[in-house]
Amino acid sequence: MRQVYTSQDLTQVGYYKSILDEVGIHSFIRNENGNNPEVSGAGFLPSLCVIEDADYDEALRILKSQQKEEVVRVDEWKCTSCSEINPPNFELCWNCNALRPEA
Ligand SMILES: [Zn+2]
Repeated sequence: MRQVYTSQDLTQVGYYKSILDEVGIHSFIRNENGNNPEVSGAGFLPSLCVIEDADYDEALRILKSQQKEEVVRVDEWKCTSCSEINPPNFELCWNCNALRPEA
């Protein structure tokens, strides 16, 4: 058993567990109900652990690529006229009204 991720945000830990579930890596959440206000320290944060040590590297790789996807929104587009970043559902640049470039 090895810990691959820990966060105060149990929702995020659960989300990452579902990603590992999807690819068939067995994992579990430690300290799922461990929010004891009288005890502080990282040891009591919800932690995602893989059961098989052999899955550790693969799990880390998957979670890292997942984190990167969250930061880079691939659907956003950059205006060719003013270089402003626009949301995916915009057909015109919100800043200068230039047409969205063809993908
Ligand atoms: Zn623009």
